[in-house]
Amino acid sequence: MAAKILDGRAIAARWRDWAKARVEAFRARTGHVPGLATVLIGDHPASQSYVQAKQNACAAAGIRTFHYRLPAEVDQETVMKLLGTLACNPEVNGILVQLPLPSHLDEEEILSAIPLEKDVDGFHPMNLGRLGLKGRDPYFIPCTPLGILAMLQEAGIPIAGRRAVILGRSRIVGLPMALLLLRLDATVTICHSRTPDLATVTRQADLLIAAVGRPGLVRGEMVQPGAVVIDVGINRVADSQAPRGYRLVGDVAFEEVAAIASAITPVPGGVGPMTVAMLLVNTLKAAQRQLEGFASPWLEDGL
Ligand code: NDP
Repeated sequence: MAAKILDGRAIAARWRDWAKARVEAFRARTGHVPGLATVLIGDHPASQSYVQAKQNACAAAGIRTFHYRLPAEVDQETVMKLLGTLACNPEVNGILVQLPLPSHLDEEEILSAIPLEKDVDGFHPMNLGRLGLKGRDPYFIPCTPLGILAMLQEAGIPIAGRRAVILGRSRIVGLPMALLLLRLDATVTICHSRTPDLATVTRQADLLIAAVGRPGLVRGEMVQPGAVVIDVGINRVADSQAPRGYRLVGDVAFEEVAAIASAITPVPGGVGPMTVAMLLVNTLKAAQRQLEGFASPWLEDGL
């Protein structure tokens, strides 16, 4: 079986156009340009390029960005003060603190200092908790899981009643992905670094989501024929032929798994572009919520 390739670049381009049109209509209605503040601490090269990509996407969609770059050795109090200022700034509708943070900083305190209604990454403990509670909506759904949901919806891949296996339990991807799929009535198993005999678990998955950060961890023999495989991993592997001396690969051994799965996302060009597109959607919704009173965290109106 040759898997259908879920083209994240193409789907994300449509969502970016969707956001741009709605940002323009919102600006015409309210006179307000949605604004996103990005906070980058330290000089982690991948984080710098992610923040740059997010800023470029905002600019293309008509969203203002306010960028704050702090040195790696910044103290907790300075970060908290900055977040306090951004929380009160009406020009700033969304606040994004790029993770990971330097290890001396208290991530929990920092993420909890972002007001719920400006938490466009959806990492505040209250937003994460609400995501898991039926009948309670979060203000925002984290961008990577939301982007994966958008891809599954667009490809017509059902979720309710399916068996989903998620590799990874991080705050950014694995855990919110699991909560989201549970919300949508999948039967969910979460695996992590202490899970024995991963292959026995992954072979049960109708929907397998890998968010680990280990190149090629998921091999063909770990996948049930016909499964849908979503590769979140972004790993740099050395490649002397590549212009930058490295290339990007996912957590899934693509060729092997594509021969078995019914659908698969490539790396690059799969989940990554969707994450950026969903940040635009969430920032627009933050502005709508703050100025017009209500915005659903779900993709209820689709493309
Ligand atoms: P983290 O390092 O925070 O989490 C990795 C998770 O994988 C942990 O839960 C860890 O378990 C688990 N894990 C580690 N080794 C194994 C193993 N051998 N088997 C099963 N589980 C394992 O990473 P992130 O969640 O932040 O990111 C994961 C990957 O996704 C990275 O490659 C990252 O670059 C990428 N990413 C891509 C995005 C996109 O838009 N495409 C967005 C965000 C991240 P434990 O909890 O026990 O340590």
